[in-house]
Amino acid sequence: MAQEQNKKCAHPSCSCLVEKGKKYCSDYCHDARGTMELSCNCRHPHCAEQSVAAVAAAR
Ligand SMILES: [Zn+2]
Ligand SMILES: [Zn+2]
Repeated sequence: MAQEQNKKCAHPSCSCLVEKGKKYCSDYCHDARGTMELSCNCRHPHCAEQSVAAVAAAR
């Protein structure tokens, strides 16, 4: 029996959970899949806490 639960985003620096069947929480993470970043910029609340400065700089 397969236990499908929400998994973490495949982006190494992202700690968001993704829906089952998906690998990335957002297009941002999908596009950044080949990039090693210190912080995630997907703008989800969970990541925004960790990268407030980065979000502010991106605006
Ligand atoms: Zn994220
Ligand atoms: Zn993500």
